Amino acid sequence: MLPWFNTQEQNIDDLIRRIPEELPILPLRNTVAFPYIVMPLAVGIPRSVRLIEDVDRGNRVVGLVAMKDPSVEVPTTTQVYQIGTAAIIHRVMRSDDGTLTVFIQGLERFRVVAWTAEEPYFKARVRLTPDIVEGSVIEEALRRSLLDVATRLAELIPQFPEEAMRFIQQLEDPRLLVYLLASNMRIEMTDAQQLLEADRLANKMEHLVKVLTHEVEVREIGQQIQEKAKEEIEKTQREYYLRQQMDAIRKELGEGDDGRREVEEYRQKIAESGMTEEAKEEAERELARLEKMPPQAAEYWVIKTYLDWLVALPWQAQTEDHLDIADARTVLDEDHYDLEDVKERILEFLAVRKLRQERGLDTVTEADLQGRKIEGSGAILSLVGPPGVGKTSLGQSIARALGRKFTRMSLGGMHDEAEIRGHRRTYIGAMPGRIMQAIKRTGVKNPVFMLDEVDKVGSDWRGDPSSALLEVLDPQQNHAFRDHYLDVDFDLSQVLFICTGNTTATIPPPLLDRMETIEIDGYTEYDKLHIAEQYLVPRQLKMNGLLPDEIIFGEPSIRAIIRDFTREAGVRQLEREIGKICRKVATQVAEMKEEQRMETPAVAGESETAGASQGDESSAPGAVEGEVVAAAEPVEGETMAAAEPVEPIEITPEKVHEYLGKPRYRFEAALRTERPGVATGLAWTPTGGEVLFVEAAAIPGTEGNLILTGHLGDVMRESARIALSYVESHLKDLGLAEDCCKGTIHLHVPSGAVPKDGPSAGITMVTALVSLLTGRTVYPDLGMTGEVTLQGQVLPIGGLKLKVMAAHRAGLKRVIVPKLNDVDLEELPDKIRNEVEFILVEDVNEVLQHALTPKAETPEAETEVTPEASTAVETPPPLGVEAS
Ligand code: ADP
Repeated sequence: MLPWFNTQEQNIDDLIRRIPEELPILPLRNTVAFPYIVMPLAVGIPRSVRLIEDVDRGNRVVGLVAMKDPSVEVPTTTQVYQIGTAAIIHRVMRSDDGTLTVFIQGLERFRVVAWTAEEPYFKARVRLTPDIVEGSVIEEALRRSLLDVATRLAELIPQFPEEAMRFIQQLEDPRLLVYLLASNMRIEMTDAQQLLEADRLANKMEHLVKVLTHEVEVREIGQQIQEKAKEEIEKTQREYYLRQQMDAIRKELGEGDDGRREVEEYRQKIAESGMTEEAKEEAERELARLEKMPPQAAEYWVIKTYLDWLVALPWQAQTEDHLDIADARTVLDEDHYDLEDVKERILEFLAVRKLRQERGLDTVTEADLQGRKIEGSGAILSLVGPPGVGKTSLGQSIARALGRKFTRMSLGGMHDEAEIRGHRRTYIGAMPGRIMQAIKRTGVKNPVFMLDEVDKVGSDWRGDPSSALLEVLDPQQNHAFRDHYLDVDFDLSQVLFICTGNTTATIPPPLLDRMETIEIDGYTEYDKLHIAEQYLVPRQLKMNGLLPDEIIFGEPSIRAIIRDFTREAGVRQLEREIGKICRKVATQVAEMKEEQRMETPAVAGESETAGASQGDESSAPGAVEGEVVAAAEPVEGETMAAAEPVEPIEITPEKVHEYLGKPRYRFEAALRTERPGVATGLAWTPTGGEVLFVEAAAIPGTEGNLILTGHLGDVMRESARIALSYVESHLKDLGLAEDCCKGTIHLHVPSGAVPKDGPSAGITMVTALVSLLTGRTVYPDLGMTGEVTLQGQVLPIGGLKLKVMAAHRAGLKRVIVPKLNDVDLEELPDKIRNEVEFILVEDVNEVLQHALTPKAETPEAETEVTPEASTAVETPPPLGVEAS
């Protein structure tokens, strides 16, 4: 559709000059003719045909105007625009039906000045109105914009010929450019007419840029819509196709229905589990993935395991609390001897908790969750004390009193945070942490949950597990505990957590902060006796299938076990030893029954296996947890079914020694202090107090030196140095020879493998040294504790109560204590205050006065002290150090 210049002999300007003042006017339907532009016209109406034929025979110039309303068949002069284009007819083609196809080319704009004829066709007097071309910069800028937008538009019209665009870009004349674009880009009729009517070229261009830019936008958006629709159609088609294929494959493998049934089952379980909205969303998302997966995919089982976890958790399940303080007291009393203070405090704790719950102070509301501080709901109960004092069994009693389920886990020996919080699901073989595992096992969201060895956190853990633990325990955080594996919040706020540990010293401070600590110090011999009689013996009898009338455990025998075979703050070892005796007796009873049976013929239905499970090692020592008790019960029935009653076996102290072997602890202090250079000290350890010996030896003829052994910490090493310096600087006062400390001095604190630290062995070290150097032994029934200064003052120490109890256990009768510790003595049980004599001292001289025997009492002391004499202490029996 290129312009047709100079087709005939004349050029276009000549043609314009020849345009007459009066023109025949041809109305155009749906088209606007522009100057320069060549176009074909179809002419069919008789008056128009006549017009063309007349003009074709004449000067071939015609005026073209557009009709305002294209629906009108034959317009009147008012129904056509007054501005049009004069054009020259290049060629007329006639078809058989009388219609014409006319090729015309626009020449110049005109305005109708007056209509001169209406018949046989319109004629008008016209005035040519050439465009106003300024040649300005604005025109140039508009020309470029026009080219740009035209190029963009051409790209969006797929059928737009490339060469046409190239031609357009090379055009010099801006008028030609405007008209060419206007006639080729299919713009609206009204826009085209407006364009023609504008007098200034700049206005025409501006208008055209606007129209074309709009067209570009419309087309771009249209294209985007089309592309998106196409994509969507492709995707759904693709999915449909794949699903069809998958169904076919499943059917072929014969597994289609199973998979679907499984998915349905999960859907139902999810709906019934009562899980939170968040968990439900996650579960459903995973289920949707599962649905699309073949069971052979490794991922299939990963998702299944995850869903199994989610549906199995006790999201809503809980036991009903029936907390009645009087009942709780009864339960605690039933299960535990004495411990009055402890029970009192536990009851207070429970009462406060109950009250808070009743008054709604423990419920976390939406508003709380939205950032307002949650009122510090009750603290975490924490029982601290040596092993075997009943911490675990108190926890169990609390659960029983509340009617809650009980579960426990140990924090000691755990390796990293993931054990608490689990591994993320992206890890192969990931599992939830042990907290959630335990919760799932109990099947309720409100068990009593005991966390043992909370004092071992951090010491043998990697990562930062105490922060994870804090999240579990802190009432302000644990209503939304997030396990890494489950990755959804779980409400732990209904769980009653109870921590246990041996000492508060190593509990991470942020945890300790939130704890209500109850300390249990340990038992005196008297307490142990009662615990044994009322609880341990009956339990062990039952566990070993013995009847109460088959065995008599007298008080003297229990005392013998306590004194000679245990050295502990709690009663664990005691229970083990009682258990050992019970097993031995059970074996005897069983043997006696065998003999009886041999003698008398068997009665029909009599048990063949009476006592078969007695003496079973596997249910013995450490198996004293409550769960095992129930397992041993059926044995009772069997034993009862046995025939004749046998004579009860009475356990005497002699029998105890017969069953348990040589005494393990007796006279230890006495044995150890038989020679000069050994003094009995008292130490505090997390497992309760302990008796510890300080040994000193001199190695004459060697260079002056101090050797320290026995795994001593820095503070204890310094104490030893101070003790030696004190002695060296007081040789004269102590009545010692000037050169007595010249050689090497060796201080040792058995047992060598157990780490020890602290300043409180100070006076014991001085005493051991002076005993060595003077050759005077230390009284065997005497223990001591106290820090010493270089000047010989005795300073107070900590942990006195446990230390004194340990001294009492070890059979010591007198204990040297710093004077400033006398207030602590009040805390001691009456029993101990009555049985132990306390010597309060301020100065180390007083210690020596009370500790050392007179010289005459030790015949060896007459002779010079030799290294052999001072070090050759008999190999001591193992010290009763037991780690919980
Ligand atoms: P811990 O948890 O403190 O190490 P346990 O709770 O395991 O100690 O106690 C060890 C055993 O001693 C248990 O069988 C417990 O019932 C018993 N026991 C401890 N103290 C008492 C007590 N005061 N009365 C009755 N039994 C006790």
